[in-house]
Amino acid sequence: MAWADDPLPTGVAVLPYGMGRSYGDSCLNAEGPVLLTRGLRRFISFDVDAGVLRAEAGVTLGEVTELVLGRGWLPPVLPGTQFVTLGGAVANDIHGKNHHRAGAFGRHVRAIGLRRSDGSLSTLHPGDPLFAATVAGLGLTGLVTWVEVQLERVPSGWVEQEAIRFRSLEEAEALDDASRDSYSHTVAWIDGLARGRALGRGVYFRGNVAEGPPTPPRRPKPRKVPFEAPELLLSPFLLRTFNAVYDHLPRWRSRTSVWKFFHPLDTLGGWNRLYGRRGFFQHQSVVPDMEGVRALLALTSTRGQGSFLSVLKRFGALGSPGMLSFPRPGWTLTVDVPNRGEETLAYLDAMDALVRTYGGAIYPAKDARMSGETFRLGFPRLDEFATFIDPGFRSRFWSRVMG
Ligand SMILES: Cc1cc2nc3c(=O)[nH]c(=O)nc-3n(C[C@H](O)[C@H](O)[C@H](O)COP(=O)(O)OP(=O)(O)OC[C@H]3O[C@@H](n4cnc5c(N)ncnc54)[C@H](O)[C@@H]3O)c2cc1C
Repeated sequence: MAWADDPLPTGVAVLPYGMGRSYGDSCLNAEGPVLLTRGLRRFISFDVDAGVLRAEAGVTLGEVTELVLGRGWLPPVLPGTQFVTLGGAVANDIHGKNHHRAGAFGRHVRAIGLRRSDGSLSTLHPGDPLFAATVAGLGLTGLVTWVEVQLERVPSGWVEQEAIRFRSLEEAEALDDASRDSYSHTVAWIDGLARGRALGRGVYFRGNVAEGPPTPPRRPKPRKVPFEAPELLLSPFLLRTFNAVYDHLPRWRSRTSVWKFFHPLDTLGGWNRLYGRRGFFQHQSVVPDMEGVRALLALTSTRGQGSFLSVLKRFGALGSPGMLSFPRPGWTLTVDVPNRGEETLAYLDAMDALVRTYGGAIYPAKDARMSGETFRLGFPRLDEFATFIDPGFRSRFWSRVMG
C-alpha cells in the first residue's frame, strides 16, 4: 500500500496501481511490485465556492462525486465507471461523454504532486513539461500523490436524457451534428452484429445535467454477478434478441441520476464475469473520420465473433494536454470481443491494421496486445515522452510495446 511519505522501493522497478480498471496490462508490472495507491485516499481541500478540489491520488471519482454533488459540483469528466482513482484518471488522461464540450480529464487538472524514485517530491502545473508527460503518462513518470482539479458546476444530480434509434452511420453523424451544441453528453451504441444495409444501426443517447430534485441521488450499491456465467453473453440467441430489442425501441426521454447515466455498468458488479472463464478483449480506437469507423464495423460484423455491442463517440476539437493523450479529433469506436483464442487475436490484429491505414490510434488503457509499431504510429510524441520516464518505474505494457 502506497503512502505519500513512504520511501519508494529501490533496486527494482515499481508501478502505481489504482483500481485496476484498465482492461489490459498498462496497470501491471511483470518485473517488480505495484504500489497500491488506495492507501492515498484523503481529501486535502475543497473550495466550495470555486469548485476546486485537492485530494490524494487514490481517491476515486465516485468518492469525489459523492462529496461534491450535494454542493452543486461534479467531476469535470466522468468515465463509464465510478471506480477509477484520480491517479488513474490522470495517468490515462481519461475522456467522457462530454469530450466535445470539456475535452479530456487533464485539461481540468490545476496541479499534481509527483514523487520520483530519486526521492524528489514536486508540484507540477499545466505548462511544465513534466506535467505534459505525467498526464497520460501511464504511471511511468513517478507516483502521483495528489491531484487538484477544477470541478464542473451542475444544477442538480439529475440528467435529462433522450435516446434515438438510427439506421446507419450517416444518420448517426447527422444526429451528432444536430446535438453537439445543445447537449453536453452524447454517445451511441451500435449493433455490432448488423451487416449489409443494416451496418451501423444503433441508438444515440444525448443528455444534459438539468434542474431536478434538490436532494442528490444516492450512490447505488452494485449487485454482484455471483459466479462465472457459462459464456452467457456469447449465446447467439441472446445476442440477437438483445439487438432486436434495441432496434425496436421507440424514441424516449427520461430523467435519471448522474450515477446511472454516467456509469451504467456499475449497477452490475463483476459484469465482466458474464463473458465466462476465457474473458474478453476490449478494442478502443480513434480514427479521423466515418470512413474508418465503417471499415472497422464491417470487419467486426463479419469477423468479430459475436461482438454484439460497440460504442461510438465523436471527440471534439479541444486539445489534450498529455504527450501520450489518446483523445484527438475524430470518432472513437469501442468493441468488446469474447476471447476465442487465435481467431480473436487475428481479428484484433486486422482491426489494428485498419486503424493504422486510417491514421488513428489504439487506447493504451484498453490494450493487452497491440504491436510496438501500432503504438508508435498512433503516438507521435513517444520519443519526447520517453525522456521523462522515471528509471525506477516500469509496466508490463511498456515492456511489451517498447521492448
Ligand atoms: C466499465 C469501464 C468503463 C470505462 N470507461 C472509460 C471511459 O469512458 N473513458 C476512459 O477514458 N476510460 C474508461 N475506462 C478506463 C479507465 O477509466 C482507465 O483505465 C483508468 O485509468 C482506470 O483507473 P484506475 O484507478 O483503475 O487505474 P489503474 O487501471 O489501476 O491504472 C491505470 C494507469 O494509471 C497509473 N496510475 C494509477 N494510479 C497512479 C498514481 N497515483 N500515480 C501515477 N500513475 C498512476 C497506473 O500505473 C496505470 O498505468 C473504463 C474502464 C471500465 C472498467
